[in-house]
Amino acid sequence: MSATIQAVRGMHDILPEECGRWQRVEAAIAEVLAAYGYREIRTPVVERTELFARSIGEVTDIVEKEMYTFRDRNGESLSLRPEGTAGCVRAGIEHGLLRNQAHRLWYRGPMFRHERPQKGRYRQFHQVGVEVFGLPGPDVDAELILLSARIWRALGVEGALRLEINSLGTAEERAAYRRGLVAYLERHVDRLDADSRRRLATNPLRILDSKDPETRAVVAEAPRLWDHLGPESRAHFEGLRALLDEAGVRYEVNPYLVRGLDYYARTVFEWITDRLGAQGTVCAGGRYDGLVAQLGGQPTPGVGFAIGLERLVELLGEGAGPDPQAPHAYLVSVGEGTRAAALLLAEALRDAVPGLRLLVHCGEGGFKAQLRRADRSGARWAVILGESELAEGRVGLKDLRADAPQRSLAREALAGELARLLREEAG
Ligand code: ATP
Ligand code: MG
Repeated sequence: MSATIQAVRGMHDILPEECGRWQRVEAAIAEVLAAYGYREIRTPVVERTELFARSIGEVTDIVEKEMYTFRDRNGESLSLRPEGTAGCVRAGIEHGLLRNQAHRLWYRGPMFRHERPQKGRYRQFHQVGVEVFGLPGPDVDAELILLSARIWRALGVEGALRLEINSLGTAEERAAYRRGLVAYLERHVDRLDADSRRRLATNPLRILDSKDPETRAVVAEAPRLWDHLGPESRAHFEGLRALLDEAGVRYEVNPYLVRGLDYYARTVFEWITDRLGAQGTVCAGGRYDGLVAQLGGQPTPGVGFAIGLERLVELLGEGAGPDPQAPHAYLVSVGEGTRAAALLLAEALRDAVPGLRLLVHCGEGGFKAQLRRADRSGARWAVILGESELAEGRVGLKDLRADAPQRSLAREALAGELARLLREEAG
């Protein structure tokens, strides 16, 4: 016998019993996005490698060592997308969406990074991303933060998340700061962890969010990016703070908050939880005003964020709310001629009761066995069609979650009764 084949390391199946939670999260997010007028965009999972190298940055962790890159059969270098912003910008430029127009867009789907798998860190993971093009002001940055806060409230996890914000300034301001930072860090290079030493030459800003205690002690004395921001960047950041204050959004300014991707400028923010251990960033975003031009489009400001769905689903916890996949009712049929009648009855019920989730018993099984199946399906009610019911034009209806006797209804009354029960259950 040959060995069984398993999923690729770091890439997970999401099994039916978990999918209910995923669906609730996705539905809540889609509803909030619609309420703010954001429109969905779908881009391919595979892009030319060059797109990511040019947008995320050649010397970032993602491009240097995390991408799934391969040669197509005709020799072209392609990569599985490690994030969604680059593809979104590419599509916007390619289809002329970004010419002097504002766009509020969102997308959802799998992303791929060859990272060391651990809790909250996978090689295939899922994001909902939101991108806004053509609006430079801090007002839209504030809108994105308010929108994300509304998603947390819709899911009841607002108490578990805190907001950190920072400004990275413009590319020029950052370049000036970078020189000062590198000069300072070089004087303390013996106290830096190995990763940070390597980053000194490639991506020194990333050292600011090192988790190594000794490196952090060095960073605490480092020059601050804030001191290198020009008046416009400062005004932009103060504008965002004022809007958040006015809207009553609580936040902390974290001067060491940086992002691992090169394209960010000015506003950056993260929603962080302490409940998921080390991988606590559930949502991360920021402004990327230079990216569209960098990828060959007309200069167009952009700002966005991405939610890590695995982390959000995990934060939601088990059993939070009803399973949107559980059937409402299970149709039991026993005896001569009832099986075909049951299938037809089920079709008629689905026509008549919008939103009804009805499972029809198929295959073998006596009355008791079918009721056990009904119970295990998670259904609240069993609809029962036996030979005598069939002959008399009636059906049985049993509440599987209450200690009440089975009722007998005229067949024509069943749809109305199920509709009433669904409304009652929905509250
Ligand atoms: P982290 O610091 O956690 O590695 P990042 O800065 O690499 O995050 P982004 O590229 O900004 O993350 O992605 C946005 C969000 O996507 C993260 O905040 C996180 O919730 C999620 N995410 C990123 N990488 C992974 C991964 N490998 N597995 C699961 N979720 C991820
Ligand atoms: Mg990362």
